[in-house]
This record gives sequence, C-alpha cells and structure tokens, in this order.
Amino acid sequence: MSRGFDFANLHNFSAGPGVLPQKVLKQLSEAVLEVPGVGMSVLGISHRSDWFSEVVDECSQHIRVLMGLDEDWAVLFLQGGATQQFSQVPEHFLRGQTEPADYLRTGYWSSKSLPQAELCGPVRCLWDGAEQGFSSLPDQSLQWNPRAPYLHYISNETVEGLQFAFVPGLDEVPRVCDMSSDFLSRPVDADRFSLIYAHAQKNLGPAGVTIVLVRRSWVQGRGLHLPDFLRYDAQIKANSILNTPPVLAIYTVLLVLRWLRHEVGGLQSMAQINERKVALVHEVLARYSEQIHMHSSAGCRSRMNVVFRFEDATIQQLFFHEALNAGFHGLEGHRSIGGVRISLYNAMTIDAVQNLADFMAGFFQKS
Ligand SMILES: *Cc1c(COP(=O)(O)O)cnc(C)c1O
Repeated sequence: MSRGFDFANLHNFSAGPGVLPQKVLKQLSEAVLEVPGVGMSVLGISHRSDWFSEVVDECSQHIRVLMGLDEDWAVLFLQGGATQQFSQVPEHFLRGQTEPADYLRTGYWSSKSLPQAELCGPVRCLWDGAEQGFSSLPDQSLQWNPRAPYLHYISNETVEGLQFAFVPGLDEVPRVCDMSSDFLSRPVDADRFSLIYAHAQKNLGPAGVTIVLVRRSWVQGRGLHLPDFLRYDAQIKANSILNTPPVLAIYTVLLVLRWLRHEVGGLQSMAQINERKVALVHEVLARYSEQIHMHSSAGCRSRMNVVFRFEDATIQQLFFHEALNAGFHGLEGHRSIGGVRISLYNAMTIDAVQNLADFMAGFFQKS
C-alpha cells in the first residue's frame, strides 16, 4: 500500500543516499526545467558560467560560516567520493614519510581507509575495534604519537552507528577526519583539524560531490607527484572547476546549505533537533529492550545511525515487512552486520521520526 512519494521521501531512513529536505526536492524538480533567474535547466548550464562560479562561491561561504573557517582553510568540491579521500590524503601527507601516520580502526569504513594508506607509506593502527565487532570507540587515553604525520579517524561510523563525542588525538598532530555521515549535523571546532572531508550523499545532497576542507598552509608543496586532478593545490587554484564538475550535485548542496542556515538556523539548532530525534527512537528501544540487542555500547552511540537487531530473526523480518507496508523506507542494516539501522540525517523531520517511533512501539507491543 503506497502512501505517495511525499510520505516516502519524508520517511526515508536509509543510511545513504539519505533523505533531503522536501523543499529542496521541490526546488530541484523546478531547476531541472528552469533555474530561477537563469531561464534554463540546471542540467544544461555551463560549468564555466558566472552563475556556476557564484554557486561554488556561495556554497563555500555557507560552509565557512557554519564551520567557522578562517582564511587558511580552502573549501573544495571534488569527485570520487569519500573513498577517493582514503587515497588522496595519504598520497599528499604520507608518501615519503618515515614516521607512521596514526589510524583509528573503528568500523567498516575506517577499515577501508587503512589499506589505501598503506599503499603510500607507514601506518600504525592505534586502535582496532574489530575483535569486539566494532561495538565501542577508544577514549583519549591511547598512546598517541606526537611525531605522526597525521591522525586519521572517522567521526561517525555509519555502518555500526558509533560516533565520537570528543575530538581524539593530540593538538600538535594534524587531524584528518572523515565526517561523511555527520558533517554539519552538530557544531565542530575546526581549529582542531587540518583536513575534513565528507561526501554529500549522506547528510548534504546527492552522490557525486565530496566536500574537502583543507588548510592551505598544510597542502603547500605536497602531492607534487600527483596528476593535477588529484592535487589539492591544483583544485584550490581552479576553485574546484578544474574539469567539468557535477553541477547538479553542487547546486543541490547549495540548496541544502541555504536551508540549513536560513531555515534551521545553523549547527547549534541542527544539533538540538538531531538530539530530539535520536531521543525519540531510544525512548522506544529502551521500553522494549528485552526484544532487541543494541549494537554499540552506551556512550559512543551515534545520533545519525541507530543500529540494533531483534533477538528473534523471524520477528525482525516481520518488522521490515510491516515497516515498508506502513511507508517507512531504508531500515535494513548494512549487509556486513545485518539487523536494523535507522538513519536520522539532518533533513529527517521530528514528525517523521515520531511517526516511526509510534509505529515501532505498536509493533513491539504486539510482538
Ligand atoms: C558511506 C561512507 C563512505 C563511502 O563513501 P563513498 O562516497 O561511497 O566513497 C566513507 N566513509 C563514511 C564515513 C561513509 O559513511
């Protein structure tokens, strides 16, 4: 029984590509025919037009304000997804180094980043959560290497639903963070980082564009062995328009950023809304805790991805079936761990989460 695409789009709990604001979807559908003030489709506008440079500049400006970035920071819109950053980062900052970079292996996605770094230089896996099935995160008491070329970690492990509540590592070591699944979901102290990357398709827009924030002072003289396309300094010089960029994806990011700043009111408000959403889900899960098993230990649970499984696999199948019938999409856990995953990205509304929470309570009650 379909409840229509409006309901389906609003109740898309998928981990990625994620839900987008309803207003942005409407603006986009109009822009496919005609961008306001331009008079033609966003799909046909030249990436060399003044209009598109302004789109890129406005996107950068919103991100600068939201993240509190000073002039040393460059804001880039690149292709290749977060996966490409798993290589592009070590190609710039690890190639030729003798001291190992510190990596935290906290889940599925950080596990993908290590082998790519090892192709470029020495890597030390400072924490490995694999043995405990990636159910918790390290604390600040690790033996950080003050001479490491950088520390790499993932602020939110999307598959396991683990999120750092603090900034790990030493301030004297450059921090590199993959924020793909919690970028702009809460305030971040950018001063403590040297490079932050996040693809758009979880919290910010469609697949095709990856935001890379990097300190110009750190990039200088690095990556000279790389082709221009993969060099941060070449992309900075080209203002992210080195070759044909994904205009539609970047335009969508612009619409989302405007929404985030002008309608939500910035990261503080966004974080408050996100806290309320995750609390609604946890309230229900706590009430019926004997029927489920939470994947992650308390204290490192993600506000973006809530991961659990039913004790009874048959009831879990029934849950997926009934949830989909009721119009709730994307609740299946990642294929690597199964179970249920409820993703609560920025554009997910409190009302939609309340609807899901009510549905879940009803389901638990009769199971
Ligand atoms: C989804 C995800 C990735 C993979 O991103 P691609 O854009 O598909 O390469 C990497 N890191 C994190 C944290 C993710 O959630």
